[in-house]
Amino acid sequence: MKKNDCIFCKIAAGEIPSSTIYEDEDVRVILDLGPASQGHALILPKEHYDDVCSLDQTLAAKLLPLAARIGQAMKKGLGCAGFNLVQNNGKAAGQTVFHFHMHVIPRYENGPEMVAWEPCKPTAEELAKTAERIRGAL
Ligand code: AMP
Ligand code: ZN
Repeated sequence: MKKNDCIFCKIAAGEIPSSTIYEDEDVRVILDLGPASQGHALILPKEHYDDVCSLDQTLAAKLLPLAARIGQAMKKGLGCAGFNLVQNNGKAAGQTVFHFHMHVIPRYENGPEMVAWEPCKPTAEELAKTAERIRGAL
């Protein structure tokens, strides 16, 4: 299903122009308009899914190999040294466009710094309790 007021539905359908680097019947891959580094790409399903929790499983299985292929092409075509796959779910996680998308972000030697988290120092007991809370909800 498409969502009427969704900009990524319109971009994925080709109704709004984009710098497309790959397209097939299920997805369109475009360059991000506000890139974290040169070549920053977004993998957009053509159907609307709010986030990873509602994503179709068959489509989901296709996305990781595609992301790897795009990343390899960035290394070959742009000369980046590596790449990050980033995928935000929910406002608290930094999601700003509520149509599932995966970021493929090229990383260059001496390239722009990316935000890194400060590691916490949980005790073994805290880790065990946290693990149990998630396990119990699976
Ligand atoms: P997120 O914060 O994970 O929801 O990522 C949304 C991304 O979409 C951001 O990196 C934006 O720069 C990018 N973005 C928003 N609108 C457009 C657009 N019209 N074309 C290309 N990228 C866009
Ligand atoms: Zn959409």
